[in-house]
Order: sequence, then structure tokens, then C-alpha cells
Amino acid sequence: MTRFHAAHSLTEALALLHEETDTRPMAGGTDILVRMRRSPPAVPLTLIGIEGVPELQGIREEPSWLSIGAATPFAAIAASPLIAAHAPLLQDAARAVGAPAIRNMATLGGNLCTASPAGDSLPPLYVLDAEVELASKAGRRRMAVSDFILGPGETQLEPGEILCRVLVPHAPPIARCQFEKVGRRRSLAIAVASFAGLLRVDGAGRIAGARFAFGSVGPAAVTVPEAEALLRGQLAVQPDPAAVERAVLAVCATVRPIDDLRASASYRRALAGNLLRRFLSPPSSPGLNAATGHASHG
Ligand SMILES: Cc1cc2nc3c(=O)[nH]c(=O)nc-3n(C[C@H](O)[C@H](O)[C@H](O)COP(=O)(O)OP(=O)(O)OC[C@H]3O[C@@H](n4cnc5c(N)ncnc54)[C@H](O)[C@@H]3O)c2cc1C
Repeated sequence: MTRFHAAHSLTEALALLHEETDTRPMAGGTDILVRMRRSPPAVPLTLIGIEGVPELQGIREEPSWLSIGAATPFAAIAASPLIAAHAPLLQDAARAVGAPAIRNMATLGGNLCTASPAGDSLPPLYVLDAEVELASKAGRRRMAVSDFILGPGETQLEPGEILCRVLVPHAPPIARCQFEKVGRRRSLAIAVASFAGLLRVDGAGRIAGARFAFGSVGPAAVTVPEAEALLRGQLAVQPDPAAVERAVLAVCATVRPIDDLRASASYRRALAGNLLRRFLSPPSSPGLNAATGHASHG
């Protein structure tokens, strides 16, 4: 039988994780409970409820970064003026998670610790160079989100550790950014592919820095530094089409999608390229979705 302890402080949560065997933190429960129902664990687990731990809550502006408590639900991220000001890409991703009932429970920390290749928060956090802070009874450590995620369902989290917060560093202003999620329907859809991109420009309107990350097309979010470098120096409003096509080719050559129930690998590869092309191109003709080639419902 599964046991449940609700922790009221981080110290209590860490002590419970440390003292008991076969324990797992549980935040919103939208992943762990589904997984436990699908394949019950071999030994009874003790779940440590962390959603009410005050140290894991809240969104705060600090001198060097925006700090987001790991147990912050996506609904709060979707509604936060601080997130709108400092991490609009993450806000768009939060609004794309599941449906309202899921967003009220599902947390940012749970999304990262689940480490699904389709996790909506991953591409934005990769391009924003976000970091995670982990705590255990031994102390705290920090690392880039891109280092934290090792592959599907695998992270750097050690037994007894809790992801406390996500840090989005303050950075030069972003001229343009976009998050896009392509799913088989508008809500409660796992991404067939997703895209987060941002451009920083110099005084002459040329791209000084471009960052892109793609979800659902590899074991973790995929970045393509070669494509980013190819666009540097291009006019942000109208990059040279040849440079755009070279960047698209680099993306298609780098992503490693798989065939599954939702889409084929070849469709996903083409889609990733089209999502970048659309981000970099002037608006397409109304009625046609330039990324999927399907009629647009927007
Ligand atoms: C119907 C439905 C629709 C969904 N739609 C989407 C979607 O559109 N996009 C998407 O990305 N995901 C989606 N999900 C998946 C899920 O909602 C998210 O991954 C969510 O962010 C998980 O957060 P949680 O707080 O519920 O995690 P939990 O289920 O509580 O935990 C998930 C895992 O992370 C660990 N964990 C959680 N918090 C911490 C922490 N702070 N420190 C250490 N370990 C921790 C747990 O031990 C567990 O292994 C959906 C799920 C359902 C059921």
C-alpha cells in the first residue's frame, strides 16, 4: 500500500526523503500518480507531498535572476506579470500545458523531474539559459537545466534530493520570441513537436544572438548552435532566405525524432525545420499553417 506524508517545510521533506526507504517527492501528482497506476511499483512507495512547502512556492525577482519555486503550478506561471516581463516564452509554454485542471496542479519542478522529451517547459528554459537549484541534507547545488536533463525520464537528481527552484538569469533585452506547440488537438495534447526561439538584435537591427530549442524531436530538448551561428549578423526583420534555409537544414540534420502513435519521425523532422522557418519569416498568407502545411484554425 502506498503511504503519503504531507511535508510542511523543506527541512521536513528532506528529512523524510532521507530517513525512509523507497520514498519519492510528489508535487501535483499529475505524472507520478498516472505512472503508478499504469505500472505499480514493485515495492510500496512512500510519497512525500511537497506541494504545500512554502520554500518551493512563488515567483520572485532577485538581483541576478527570476526565481521560480519548483512547486509553482503552471496556472500561476501562466498568470504571473513577472513571468510576462522576464520569461514570456515560459508563460506561453505554461498556457499550452494540458488544460486548466491540469495547469492548476502540474508544477514546473514536476515537469523538469519527469524529463519527458515532450515536456512543454523544456525548450523555453533551454533558450533562456535557466538553471535549477537542488537541495539535499548535504547542501545545495546548481546546474543548467540542459545539464540537469539527461534523457527520457532521467535527470541528475540524486536520491534524497529535491528540486527547489528554477532560476532564469536576467539577460539583454529580447527583440522577438516565440513558443509554438504542435499537437494533434488544441488542449490535452502531448506535443508532436514544439519550438522556442528568441532573437536579440544590435543597434542596426541585426541579429546579435539567436537561440532555438525543439521539443519532442530527440531524447531531450534539442538545441542547434550551428543554426544559431548561421543567423548572426542577419537583419532580424528580414534575414537572407539562403541563410534561413541553411539554418533549417542544420536543424533537420540535428534533430533525432522517433516514430510513434502521434507522428512519424520524418514528419517531425520536417516540422522542426518549418517551425524555425516560420519564426524567421514574414507572416504567411492567412488560412495556411506554414509549419504543418495544414489549414490553420487560429
Ligand atoms: C491529462 C494530462 C495532460 C498533460 N498534459 C501535459 C502537457 O500538455 N505538457 C506537458 O509538458 N506535460 C503534460 N502532462 C504531464 C504533467 O502534467 C507535467 O509533466 C507536470 O508538470 C508534472 O508536474 P507534477 O507537479 O504533477 O509532478 P508529479 O507527478 O508530482 O511528479 C513527477 C515526477 O517528478 C518528481 N518531482 C516532482 N517535483 C519534484 C521536486 N520539486 N523535486 C524532486 N522531484 C520532484 C516526482 O517524484 C515524480 O517522479 C499532462 C499530464 C496529464 C495527466
